[in-house]
Amino acid sequence: MQKKTVRDEGVSGKRVLVRVDFNVPMNRNGKIEDDTRIRVCLPTITYLIHHSARVILCSHLGRPHGQVDEHLRLGPVARRLSELLQRSVVPLREAIGPEVMRVVSEMKDGEVVLLENLRFYPGEEDNDPGFARELSLLADLFVNDAFGASHRAHASVVGMAEYLPCVAGLLMEKEIEQLTSLFEDPARPFAVIIGGAKVGEKIRILENIIPKVNLVLVGGGMAATFLKGRGCDVGISAVEPDKIELVRRIMQKAESLGVRVLLPEDVVVAEKLEADETAWVVRVEEIPADRRIADIGPLTIMEFTNELKKCRTVVWNGPMGVFEIPRFSNGTKSISEVIAGLSATTVIGGGSTAEAVTQLGLADKMTHVSTGGGASLQFLSGKTLPGVAVLADK
Ligand code: ADP
Ligand code: MG
Repeated sequence: MQKKTVRDEGVSGKRVLVRVDFNVPMNRNGKIEDDTRIRVCLPTITYLIHHSARVILCSHLGRPHGQVDEHLRLGPVARRLSELLQRSVVPLREAIGPEVMRVVSEMKDGEVVLLENLRFYPGEEDNDPGFARELSLLADLFVNDAFGASHRAHASVVGMAEYLPCVAGLLMEKEIEQLTSLFEDPARPFAVIIGGAKVGEKIRILENIIPKVNLVLVGGGMAATFLKGRGCDVGISAVEPDKIELVRRIMQKAESLGVRVLLPEDVVVAEKLEADETAWVVRVEEIPADRRIADIGPLTIMEFTNELKKCRTVVWNGPMGVFEIPRFSNGTKSISEVIAGLSATTVIGGGSTAEAVTQLGLADKMTHVSTGGGASLQFLSGKTLPGVAVLADK
């Protein structure tokens, strides 16, 4: 890798600000449903502890939109991390300001603190230079280990570069090395499967992926905007109206390059995305006006399966349905099983997608399970991730 990592810097006695992605699934009572995102950061954190750094961790959690949300405090994450490390991790109630400064100035070598949720501050997502500067004042060195957030130009991802030397963490290094070698000369046919909920962000990346692949399969919440773009009524499904034009452009671009884009033929619909809802399967031309798409249907699963069996490289980001609810989990489950059984290079990316595959016990049947969804897609598109671009070169 051309970028410097923590191993290339002396860290002993230094205050090291580490951007991690601790955006774990957590319920309203602060119970962490899956701690994978914490575990994958342990190599960097223990490296820094063993090399006598003062470790200042920072992360986002959920989407508090620049305001304090009591349900999105990082306290429970600090407790879980402390159990995993078997040492104290001090949770702070803020990410910047005099109190944080005071605690950090009293840290000893090898100690660990976790700053409060970065997205409680509007400056984080706005990449506000004032916020970035205040955060940078806490440290002597910045380490980015949040591969999954590195496609976003936020203050804690790119803003530190103005003020601090920036290097990669060990998870970041592993992701870059794995994905670089997997995407270098992919075996064909090459399919990308895209689903999930973050439609706006992913659609933009998809436009750049089209020239790299042979086939695009669309499911999940993403399917509604694509179906709408093809003139289908999708009932009360969430659609991003300002992305319809982009969807049409993507479909035209795909056609002109001979890349096939397959949308669902049938879907599971329900009134609400809740466990005890009545749900049934309809063809996409017949989605009732008062129902929303919750999963892909059996015909679509069959069609996607047939296509995937011919592929030699498959990249998947975004669940095919609301898989957290058993009755809407069929699509995600079936596609996971098909991909796990392929003799192809298979890359799974995204918090929820990785969680689904792990829950099904299929993670070790995949070539690589990435911690980044949007980030791994952007990597595939060949566009440098903003958070990687700012890291120092070797
Ligand atoms: P990832 O974390 O894998 O990158 P996203 O964050 O984009 O994926 O989306 C994951 C979420 O998408 C899941 O919580 C899932 O319930 C939701 N989802 C999937 N299909 C639908 C759908 N048809 N309607 C609404 N939400 C959906
Ligand atoms: Mg997600």
